[in-house]
Amino acid sequence: MLLEQPLIERFVAYAIKHGDFEKEDSVYIQNRVLAILNAEGIEYNAALPNNINNNPSPNDITQYWIQQAVNHHIIEDTLYNKEIIEAQILDLITPRPSAINKQFFEAYKAAPNEATDYFYEISKLNHYVKEDAIANNINYEVMTEYGNIEVTINLSKPEKDAKQIALAKEAKSSEYPQCALCIENEGYKGSVLQAARTNHRIIRITLDDEHFGFQYSPYAYFQEHSIVLSEKHEPMKINRQTFINLLAFIDQFPHYFIGSNADIPVVGGSILSHNHYQTGKHTFPMDNAKEIDNFKMERFPSVKASILKWPMSVIRLKDSNKDTLIEAATYVMDCWNHYSDETVQVKAFSDKGERHHTITPIARYRNSLYEVDIVLRDNQTSDEYPDGIFHPHQDVQHIKKENIGLIEVMGTAILPGRLKRELQDVKDYLLDEAITDLGIHQSWADSMKDNYIVTKSNVDEIVDKEVGYKFKRVLEDAGVFKQTVEGQNAFKRFVQKLKND
Ligand SMILES: [Zn+2]
Repeated sequence: MLLEQPLIERFVAYAIKHGDFEKEDSVYIQNRVLAILNAEGIEYNAALPNNINNNPSPNDITQYWIQQAVNHHIIEDTLYNKEIIEAQILDLITPRPSAINKQFFEAYKAAPNEATDYFYEISKLNHYVKEDAIANNINYEVMTEYGNIEVTINLSKPEKDAKQIALAKEAKSSEYPQCALCIENEGYKGSVLQAARTNHRIIRITLDDEHFGFQYSPYAYFQEHSIVLSEKHEPMKINRQTFINLLAFIDQFPHYFIGSNADIPVVGGSILSHNHYQTGKHTFPMDNAKEIDNFKMERFPSVKASILKWPMSVIRLKDSNKDTLIEAATYVMDCWNHYSDETVQVKAFSDKGERHHTITPIARYRNSLYEVDIVLRDNQTSDEYPDGIFHPHQDVQHIKKENIGLIEVMGTAILPGRLKRELQDVKDYLLDEAITDLGIHQSWADSMKDNYIVTKSNVDEIVDKEVGYKFKRVLEDAGVFKQTVEGQNAFKRFVQKLKND
């Protein structure tokens, strides 16, 4: 296989413009590309190939080369292998970590958002953030009594082929990097079990004298979805220090929100082994939830507190003074972690003394005030609800059965990709176009059949909306104080304790 001259020239120009190179490095870059692709040389008289657009991005060029190399049987046609080669090629258009960090903090001097804009643009250009894959997701909003909620059917992660699955089964797992969030992923080649990260870069930040990394998320769920990770591989932990760290981040990047998954099973996120937070630019449905029942706490007279009109149980605290807010948030969290009300199945500790309570915290800066949202969580299980009392119940698990983490808590449903096909079957069934066995969706589909006159023109709208209602139910299941008179009275009893204690 030979590389066409016009493409290699364009790629070299990108590497000089964005990477660590200068004009004198042109031949060197060209030979690096040839080596990575295992290609032979350059076809000097070739024109731009027909199947590539007139203004190809670095990733367009890279994908074209990889496909050529696969066609010539000089690289193995497995997803992981192609991703390793992609990351190695696009590494050439990416400044090395020290240079990116330097440029980031140089831009930061002008404004924090200039620094994040700079880093985000590079992360997209070198295909670390996979915009093209993210565009496959299905996104829409559904109006509910809590306001609009967002639904995303996640179709961004490419499916692994059978060959790769077989290789992964045989592969020995490595202890390096220890997990997908470890800082040792920066520049890591990758393997059949670990993501290709040669083009990965991490910004070094400091929160209350502790070192953290800041990076974008490859398969983002919202605008500028990013992750702040501990420099050390340490378990998730929600405590006073969490509020200190979250608000220290908000001080440095006031244009981003930041939140953390909970730190115990059932109510926590998918990675409990490495302490990390999630951040970004998005305004979530919960941000706009109505503040009902405003109250004041005797210990913190300046802090504005309220309960949110939201399917989960949320207390919002606001203050212009960061330190006061940290103390108030810690106080609310500590009260919750020791609070039981068995009339509504809320129980802080098991009979063996194991902790059931924690929170999902979110921080932002808005209207010249620091805000902290404290979402109350309880991870008990029971004979009736073996997956979790405050977890999606059996009858909604056909839509969502995974833990309700930070993003969902805030009103954005991240639903599994399998739903794209399954919901099409449901729609066909509602239109009587095919009598299929809908399995887990059967009784839901039958109830829609009873409740709606379904036509070709309204079927999408009905099913989309009903999926949104199911997700609302998922959140209500995860809420510790239910949306009933009994549940809301119990919430008020907890608030009463916060006010006067
Ligand atoms: Zn780790």
